[in-house]
Amino acid sequence: MKTLKVLTWVVLMGMAVACSASQTPDEMATSGEGTATATEAGASEDTELNVVRSVMTAARQTAMSPDEALQKLKDGNARFVRGEELNRDYSAQVEATAEGQYPFAMVLGCVDSRAPAELLFDVGFGDIFKARVAGNFVNDDVPGSIEFATRVAGAPLILVMGHTSCGAVKGACENVQLGHVSSLVNEIRPSVEAVTPEGETCSASNAELVDKVAAHNVDRTIAEIRNESAIIAELEAAGEVKIVGAMYDISTGVVQFYE
Ligand SMILES: [Zn+2]
Repeated sequence: MKTLKVLTWVVLMGMAVACSASQTPDEMATSGEGTATATEAGASEDTELNVVRSVMTAARQTAMSPDEALQKLKDGNARFVRGEELNRDYSAQVEATAEGQYPFAMVLGCVDSRAPAELLFDVGFGDIFKARVAGNFVNDDVPGSIEFATRVAGAPLILVMGHTSCGAVKGACENVQLGHVSSLVNEIRPSVEAVTPEGETCSASNAELVDKVAAHNVDRTIAEIRNESAIIAELEAAGEVKIVGAMYDISTGVVQFYE
C-alpha cells in the first residue's frame, strides 16, 4: 500500500515536470524582451515584435508569492478590459510546455461560455489550471484537482470566481429540479437561503439578488475548500498558497477581486 502511494506520488510529480524559458509573458511585455526571443525548447526565432513565446518556468513559479500571482491575474484582466492583450505565439508555447508545466494559479469557475478564464485573464499555455463546474461549487472531484494544482504542481494561488447572470445560480433561485441539474442546484441553495430577504422568494428575473447569491456562493465555496482539504488548509496556513474570491461581470469583462 505504501509502495503504491509512493509510486502514485512519483507519477503525479512526473506530470508536473518541466522545461523551458526564462521569462514570463508579463516580464516580456514590460521589458520588451519578447522581441525575437526563442524559447529554450526550440521555438524558432523571428523578428516579429512583441510576440510572447516563453512560458512559466520552475524558477519563476518557485519565486512567485501568492500575492504576485494574484497581481498577475489582475494585470491580465486589466489588459483584457483595455483591449491590450499580449500577442502570443501559441505554437511556440505548446512546444515549450510539452514536457511539463508550472502554472501560477488554479481558477475554479463556472462552465458558462461567457467566462473563459484564459481570455479574460489574458494568459497563455501553461499559465493557469482551471476547474469548471456549473455554479463553481466544490463537488467530490474539485478538491483533488485543486490539491494537484497546488500541492503537486506548485501553483501558489487558488481563485474561486463566480459571475453575474449565472444560469446555475438562477436555477438555484428557482429551485429547479431536473435530472442531474438538481444536485448542483441543491449545492447552491444554502446561498439562496442566506441572502434572500425574509418573506421574499428568489426569482431568476431579480438580477441584483441573483448576483448576490453568486457572490455569497463564492465565499461558501472558499470555506468548503478549506473544510474539505487538509492539504490546502495547511498550505494556506504556511503562507504558500492563498485562496481568493472574485466575481466576473459578463457585461463589462471586469473581474472584481475580493481582495
Ligand atoms: Zn454560471
